[in-house]
Amino acid sequence: MTEEKQTVLLGLTLRELTEFVEDVGQPSYRGRQLYEALYRQRLGSAEQISTLPQEFRQSLRQRGLSLGVPTIEKKFVSSDGTVRYLIGFGDGQSVETVWMPEGDDGEAGDGSEAGSEIEKAAGRSWDRTTICVSSQVGCAVDCQFCLTALLGVKRNLTAGEIVGQVCAVLKDQNFSPPENRVNIVFMGMGEPFLNYDNFMRAVRLLVEGVGIPESRMTVSTAGIVPRIYDLGAEPVRPKLAISLNAPNDELRSRLMPINRKWNLEKLVAAARDFPLRNREKLTFEYVLLDEVNDSAQSARELGELIRGVRAKVNLIALNPGPGIAFQTPAENRVAQFQKILIAAGVPTFVRRPRGRDIYAACGQLKRTVELAAS
Ligand code: SAH
Repeated sequence: MTEEKQTVLLGLTLRELTEFVEDVGQPSYRGRQLYEALYRQRLGSAEQISTLPQEFRQSLRQRGLSLGVPTIEKKFVSSDGTVRYLIGFGDGQSVETVWMPEGDDGEAGDGSEAGSEIEKAAGRSWDRTTICVSSQVGCAVDCQFCLTALLGVKRNLTAGEIVGQVCAVLKDQNFSPPENRVNIVFMGMGEPFLNYDNFMRAVRLLVEGVGIPESRMTVSTAGIVPRIYDLGAEPVRPKLAISLNAPNDELRSRLMPINRKWNLEKLVAAARDFPLRNREKLTFEYVLLDEVNDSAQSARELGELIRGVRAKVNLIALNPGPGIAFQTPAENRVAQFQKILIAAGVPTFVRRPRGRDIYAACGQLKRTVELAAS
């Protein structure tokens, strides 16, 4: 492969694709054909776009243009059905994307379509299928319990690379929205709010191009406060989840250094100010670390901290990994923590670990390619 820079079409909007075809002397409707081919049909190469005349397909290649669909480099299948994909891009970088056929229960109670379906009919698991998408190669935020942090941040993903993960996985799973319902969580590698513009462009393309409703998408942030306000002002936006992980500044600054920049007062104020839609709730994620942030006292403090916010809490028992200096709490400690919050009036759910055996669970994404034989 030559190193010459290829121009990539995935990530362009309908308007941009239309301008592009007009620029190269094609009729404007070819913009729509390219758009459909990229986002609806999710074709892998220009040669496959049978709606386009042969010479146009060839001229795309001659101009050094590629569709830019990322490639699935590796695929690990968990005993629970979760699939972890290693997805590679044109420059040799890669990220992970996780397919969860039955969700992880994190959807419960947030007022979303997927959430109310869980409450109505626990059996309809096909409605809970979730893709967990990455927003950066690695991560700069340095949370002490997260394996992705150990990679540092290599670069931001483009909008096309974010949408491309979804397209590649849908194609591999032979899954086609809107007929097949799928939820998207921006909870993979990276901090979406440190790559805000590309992330939001990807959201709009997933809604308009791929056909996934915004009400089925959730973005999680470690607490980049100014971007929480930006998200609130977006006409089309996912639901918001905030990784809280500690009930006071002393502890949170230790676990999540980002707290020194935006402390809990600022973060919870942004959560209170966030303009929620009808029936919508915020989610607070809280990773439970044995004997660190999982005491009854911490649970009470957390209940106080978020009192009055229209929110639910998702508890995540630590998913362990090499180089992580914390332990997973026993189940009874998780249950006690949940009980105290519920008693304080906070809807609280426990996120099921998905794909722990293949390093696919929350906080475990670090491009592990060597797995012990199972
Ligand atoms: N950077 C964003 C998006 C990633 S979401 C954010 O931090 O919100 C990943 C979620 O997994 C976060 O809620 C994070 O707190 C949680 N997490 C990180 N490491 C974990 C671990 N080892 N076990 C369980 N959850 C973890």
